[in-house]
Amino acid sequence: MSTDWTPTLWSECFEEMLDEELDSSDQWAFHFNYGLTETLTKEERRREWRVYSHCAFGQFQCGKCFKTWRSARVVVVFRYRLQNKTARGTVLMRPLGQACRRCREEFELPGFSQNEVEEALLGLFGKIRKNCYGEEEEEEEEEDDDEEEEDGSEKVSMRPHEKALCEACRLGICCQE
Ligand SMILES: [Zn+2]
Ligand SMILES: [Zn+2]
Repeated sequence: MSTDWTPTLWSECFEEMLDEELDSSDQWAFHFNYGLTETLTKEERRREWRVYSHCAFGQFQCGKCFKTWRSARVVVVFRYRLQNKTARGTVLMRPLGQACRRCREEFELPGFSQNEVEEALLGLFGKIRKNCYGEEEEEEEEEDDDEEEEDGSEKVSMRPHEKALCEACRLGICCQE
């Protein structure tokens, strides 16, 4: 797993999964917006934007002291909409950062394994099928809890989530405990 924020990993996975997950001829585009929030304005709602946020397992590296750490509470926020008239869909994504426990400076952006990326996108595609294509919702998938599905060795190295170091906590949009 890399500690580098790699946008292409996300956009390439999105492209690869698109055909199988959506089975539609609509054109979907995937972009990044690092100022994205979870709150939609009335105008945005009218334009049928929707929000999906996901809690993932990620890794970080401090740009100052180069310390690395892992977290099971890395928030990624998506906005998506389908414009039926033009048959174009848009997804916007924002990864939320964490700051180094020692330096307590800037928020670093997370790195993810391909597996984590695919899992997040599966959740997103599920929401798109339901909200843009009217598919009946399958049983609500359990969101990953901290440490769930991680093996023992990773648990040990994980320290408690510190709100002051988490950008999502700062914005009040961190995953539920
Ligand atoms: Zn540091
Ligand atoms: Zn948090």
